[in-house]
Amino acid sequence: MKGHDKTLKAEQYANDDTRLLRALLDAAVDAIIVIDRYGLILTFNRAAEHMFGYQADEVLGQNVKQLMPEPYQSEHDVYLHQYQITRQAKIIGIGREVMARHKDGTLFSVKLSVGEAGDHVNGYFVGILHDLTGLRQVEGELYKQQQRMVHFSRLGVLGEMTAGIAHEINQPLTAISTYAEACARLIKNKGYKAAEIAEILELIRAQALRAGEVIRRLRDLAVQHDSERCETDLNKLIIEVVKLAGVDAHLNDIKIITDLESRLPLVIVDSVQIQQVLLNLIRNAIDAMTDAGPEKNTIVIRSNKISPEMIEISVIDQGHGIADEMVDKLFEPFHSSKAHGMGIGLSISRTIITSHGGSLKFESIPGQGATFKFCLPSIPELLTGVD
Ligand code: ADP
Repeated sequence: MKGHDKTLKAEQYANDDTRLLRALLDAAVDAIIVIDRYGLILTFNRAAEHMFGYQADEVLGQNVKQLMPEPYQSEHDVYLHQYQITRQAKIIGIGREVMARHKDGTLFSVKLSVGEAGDHVNGYFVGILHDLTGLRQVEGELYKQQQRMVHFSRLGVLGEMTAGIAHEINQPLTAISTYAEACARLIKNKGYKAAEIAEILELIRAQALRAGEVIRRLRDLAVQHDSERCETDLNKLIIEVVKLAGVDAHLNDIKIITDLESRLPLVIVDSVQIQQVLLNLIRNAIDAMTDAGPEKNTIVIRSNKISPEMIEISVIDQGHGIADEMVDKLFEPFHSSKAHGMGIGLSISRTIITSHGGSLKFESIPGQGATFKFCLPSIPELLTGVD
């Protein structure tokens, strides 16, 4: 081959390589962005155009930081510069989930993997970005679905406790009516003293507050709320739940006693959801004890610090214990041994506890009772005020 033919052939190969590379870049499903060591964009493939809403011409030669939200946008130049000096990578060669910024300003999550090419002087970085929007939407839908189930199950437990709750509200209302009658009688008889009336009105006020308190507790549990976690004193939470479930137990001739460890570390939980778990366990304990006889009439709720980082709450009953046929499917939804049971309480309770980083277990002795225990991670340095 003559000299200039060889040159033509080499140029053709080079052109073919460039075309092939371009075709590969544009056929890629994920966005591919190549930047130089100053962060200026050298390559922006078709998937990147689609993902970010920019045409390649608009961003080539521009700083890649415009594709990032704050604070990464402001930090990126410094980061690249430091990397040249220290060679300590935060993302290069590792890859992670980050937020990206569309041309219209909206943010979306992507899985970003970054590789380095070239040498120290002419180095560049290749970023491959996989859009996670679809995945996040599915996860979001699943989460909402789960929250709806949790709420639905909570309404179920409250429904089962209607008799107790009605009784709890009825008592102060009856008292209010009796005090009001007494007041009216005094006034009719003329010879009343203002101080006597004031005293009765004070009693009426206290009873109205008591009824209001029950309604507040009920409303907190009945309303669907976005899951919110905050520092919580589990001993106080137990006392609140016992106030609500105690009347229900009492109507079934069952008493609930508490055995609470003092100076219990706080936990970070969605307190409505943890109340729901406790209510569910207490309701099940009451159901298991309704025919147990007068000598077996006590439910114990115990709190323990089982390690510096773990709190355990136990609900101990004296009921019939777990039926043999239920043992293996206790936490499977829609399995119930009760005539009108939905069979979702325990499966939802376990989902709630697991999502808080804890676990829910049980022990059972047939004919003697069952114990359900759940543990939750605590914050060892934050102690409750209860001594
Ligand atoms: P449900 O109460 O609607 O049946 P759960 O999921 O809360 O749904 O409970 C499932 C089943 O587990 C109950 O039907 C019962 O057979 C059993 N179970 C739960 N707690 C106890 C308990 N404390 N003692 C005996 N059996 C229990």
